[in-house]
Amino acid sequence: MRDFYEVLGVPRNATDEEIKKAYRKLAREHHPDSGGENGDQERFKEVSQAYEVLSTPEKRALYDRGFDPNGRRGSAGFGFEDIFETFFGGGGTARRGPTSRRQRGGDLLIHADVTLEEAVFGVARDVQVNVADVCAACEGSCCAPGMKPSTCRECGGKGVVQRVVRSLLGQVMTSAPCPACGGYGTTIELPCSECSGQGRTHSRHTITVDIPAGVESGTRIRLQGYGDAGVSGGPTGDLYVEIREKPHAVFERQGDDLHCTLEIPMTAAALGTVMKVETVDGPKEVDIRPGTQPGETIRLRGLGVGHLQRTGRGDLFVHIDVETPVGLTLEQEGLIKRLAALRGEEFPEARLAPANAGLFSRLKDAFTGR
Ligand SMILES: [Zn+2]
Ligand SMILES: [Zn+2]
Repeated sequence: MRDFYEVLGVPRNATDEEIKKAYRKLAREHHPDSGGENGDQERFKEVSQAYEVLSTPEKRALYDRGFDPNGRRGSAGFGFEDIFETFFGGGGTARRGPTSRRQRGGDLLIHADVTLEEAVFGVARDVQVNVADVCAACEGSCCAPGMKPSTCRECGGKGVVQRVVRSLLGQVMTSAPCPACGGYGTTIELPCSECSGQGRTHSRHTITVDIPAGVESGTRIRLQGYGDAGVSGGPTGDLYVEIREKPHAVFERQGDDLHCTLEIPMTAAALGTVMKVETVDGPKEVDIRPGTQPGETIRLRGLGVGHLQRTGRGDLFVHIDVETPVGLTLEQEGLIKRLAALRGEEFPEARLAPANAGLFSRLKDAFTGR
């Protein structure tokens, strides 16, 4: 497959306007009616193909990710059937017949932004997408009402023309796609005015996408048969919906587990308490045991993200942060001083925690996931 940006001679970050300008210029130069050489037919086709993809945001997005949005297998516009015929001969003969106008519809790619809650439980989302439909006026035939494609006069419907080429070996007969009909064997004298002879018209569709629980940024949902309609009775392409997950204000996601930090007063950490914590499932009671230390983790099973394509959910990890009181009143300061005296902590001794046991290594482990 040719690089479409190269074909149009524009950079990868070209704007829609730049792409349109480049296309107009090239299309004028290479249009078959402008009296160019035979090669221009191919070049014109190539330029139109590149423009069709790069001017449709959904197709351009797909192309930028390495897909062929026109759904063609093989390269340079050769369908699988063409290659099959080239190698094995169509129907037992070595001659290549006319190219079929029948073509699979293009694939489309759109994005859907989901919140963490939507990723946790799944959601039905309406998305808007520009889709090519079979033209209602000509029912995809590309011809004006009552007309049919007529046999090409140049090639007599074969789609190929024989040419004599002088080479080192003498005169050689070669066959090339017919320049008059583009290799189709038929020409359309009077194109349908509704679709300009394209056989398809574009319209905006609203599609409800069932986004399952467990999706994350980069997950791609394929909706078979929701892409562009095929040309001349070809099959419909597919629609891909790529998920973009919005970050959450308090929950951080690691796989299907969720993590949050709970700030508790020093007194609650020392005395123990039961706290209502807001989770994605609503408020849940969390048991803070007496003597809870900073950096401790409370695991709430099954309150994480739903697993994709299997039952069950991840867990919610509540990391405890103990707040030291600030802005003490005289009375509070007196009470804490009394507590320190009662505990013999007025002049505390420096005690270094053993390496690999302190808060620092616990934090380190949390980051490296050990
Ligand atoms: Zn039409
Ligand atoms: Zn022809």
